[in-house]
Amino acid sequence: MDITTLTVHELQEKLESKEITICQITKAYVERIEQKEKEVQAFVTTLCKEAQERAKQIEEKVENGQITSKFAGIPIGIKDNICTKGVKTTCSSKMLENFVAPYDATVVEKLKEENLISLGKLNMDEFAMGGSTEYSAFHVTRNPWNLSKVPGGSSGGSAAAVAANLVPWALGSDTGGSIRQPASFCGVVGLKPTYGLVSRYGLVAFASSLDQIGPITKDVEDAALLLNIITGHDEKDTTSENREKVDYTNCLKKEVKNLKIGIPKEFFGEGMNEQVKEKLQQAMQTYREMGAEVEEFSLDIANYSLATYYIIACAEASSNLGRYDGIRYGYRTKNFTNLKDLYRNSRSEAFGPEVKRRIILGTYVLSSGYYDAYYKKAQQVRTLVKKEFEKAFEKYDILLTPTSPSVAFEIGTKSNNPLEMYLADICTVSVNIAGLPGISIPCGVDSEGMPVGMQLIGPRFGEEVILNAAYAYEQKIKFREQYQAEFKGGVC
Ligand code: GLN
Repeated sequence: MDITTLTVHELQEKLESKEITICQITKAYVERIEQKEKEVQAFVTTLCKEAQERAKQIEEKVENGQITSKFAGIPIGIKDNICTKGVKTTCSSKMLENFVAPYDATVVEKLKEENLISLGKLNMDEFAMGGSTEYSAFHVTRNPWNLSKVPGGSSGGSAAAVAANLVPWALGSDTGGSIRQPASFCGVVGLKPTYGLVSRYGLVAFASSLDQIGPITKDVEDAALLLNIITGHDEKDTTSENREKVDYTNCLKKEVKNLKIGIPKEFFGEGMNEQVKEKLQQAMQTYREMGAEVEEFSLDIANYSLATYYIIACAEASSNLGRYDGIRYGYRTKNFTNLKDLYRNSRSEAFGPEVKRRIILGTYVLSSGYYDAYYKKAQQVRTLVKKEFEKAFEKYDILLTPTSPSVAFEIGTKSNNPLEMYLADICTVSVNIAGLPGISIPCGVDSEGMPVGMQLIGPRFGEEVILNAAYAYEQKIKFREQYQAEFKGGVC
């Protein structure tokens, strides 16, 4: 048995039946990382030694009954924009290259309460800005299905690590698609929770009104399990909602009879890859066969969501990144004679080109002469997007779309063309604008063997509906079982 190919719920079963031990699990992952990380480069920081020590301690405590959590000893990987006490949190930026957070993010505290074991911090586009992980200041992460392709982004390290069996599951963050799109490129499951369901305390801010932390996993059941761990009200995040705790595994029923699925036709428009379209049509057919009602409709405000997203996200980013001035936070230049030079040179030397582009764009749309024309207008369109989704959910239980208009592309093909990179976010950004939950699950592979992702969108706090619909479909098409034999966690 290869431990690293198992899902977390399978690991739990085997721990419970004493088929395997906590130390064996960690060891298997450490060995896998030692073998494959050179090729995939999913991590910024690995914690192999620490993880093995931790495994020993936890195993002892479980044996003598001091720890009873059913997640005790399960390893995990964490995106490198989520603060971890005593371990570097770099955001894959030179600006924070040596930053060691003095505290844990709320989600990390929750992982620790359950006695999960961190295997390390995962690579990303710098400050989560990008869709390919090529904008990391340190190295490019590769797609385990084909090492010449990108893993998607910005949580590309998280998705690649899960797909390559370097971690059983991981945390990512999603501002405009950064959990769902890399999950789709790497053939794994990625869930962006409703805005406010998961605390953002300790998540390094990109665009605060859009950011959410969420799970990237091998299957839907694991996504539900990890969501169970990380949700909950947090006084340290004023946008965190105070809601009753839900067990998201209870909704996984394999049953979608009479579920009303809306297909917003704007998501299948220009620029959509034919093979992706075909896979999505097959998925719709599968849902019909399972007894769901599938109907096309128009969500025409979606045509404006990309422009709206890039105005709002850049505006918020320019403000959030103002703190990195070489004095209060981050890298400080050696090259200065006065305060202005200190600011200018620190920021010029430590931010990469994409981050600079966003700061410039964001500062422009917030400037007094253009505020009304761009930022205010974008906020007005945001309200319309929310309203149109609300209207759609009066009629449909969930919406079904592609996660991305294409499969994973070759490394280097879009990194010098920001507009083309932005266009690849067309299917995911409106979900963040409206604060909705969205999940990406694999729905097949194209003729080159690259995974295609399907996105299911739910109403606010409708995680249970999309998780169930995703689960029912997953049980039907059995993507993992079908492709794992030939793929074997990739790195072919
Ligand atoms: N690709 C999008 C962007 O570059 C989304 C990023 C994200 O979700 N963090 O903004």
